[in-house]
Amino acid sequence: MSHAFSAVKMIRLIGGAVVLDFINTCNGRRPNSSLDAPQDRLNSFQFFFEWALHASLITHAEYEAYKSSILDSVFPFQPCLKSVVDFRESLFRIFYALSQEQPVTPEVLQPLNDALERGNAWRVLTVKNGLPAWGWKHCSTVDELATMLVGRLAVQAESLLTGPDLQHLKCCSSLECDWLFLDSSKNKQRRWCQMSVCGSREKLNRLKHAGGAL
Ligand SMILES: [Zn+2]
Repeated sequence: MSHAFSAVKMIRLIGGAVVLDFINTCNGRRPNSSLDAPQDRLNSFQFFFEWALHASLITHAEYEAYKSSILDSVFPFQPCLKSVVDFRESLFRIFYALSQEQPVTPEVLQPLNDALERGNAWRVLTVKNGLPAWGWKHCSTVDELATMLVGRLAVQAESLLTGPDLQHLKCCSSLECDWLFLDSSKNKQRRWCQMSVCGSREKLNRLKHAGGAL
């Protein structure tokens, strides 16, 4: 197991959808964030590739097929990383606005439309259990892989945006956290990305504040 993979496994997957977990690979972007600067976990394309397996964006078979061309390379694949990160930030703008019940404009959706169009070239009808199903073509270069994976995330984003689960989209209530998630709780009262992380910290802050005021 590589060092990067042990680090990537520490990243919590709490979004309830892979595309939300993808957006949650960064924090500190909400306009009223209490963090001084955004904290981005995607600092190399290699790390993104490891994350893709961790978050089940790719299968183990795909990981095995592509890993030597990515993980054995000292090349930083900077343009590929930039296209992935830029796309993630365009998704954050869409999903964060919707989580705050703010409208989105066609301009805000344009990068997603562009990614869908580029990614479409990599989609292929294939056969799964004897039935036609969407699959993805094999990529020969890392550039192609970046486009294909962005396309795959774009398809997931599009289906979440136009599907019934969108009504359950929320953003963590902590100003230290802008993670997005689908509230699948029974009473739909979930406030935190995770009670054990942001919920506990906020509770502790409130207790400290109350203690200091005595
Ligand atoms: Zn949180």
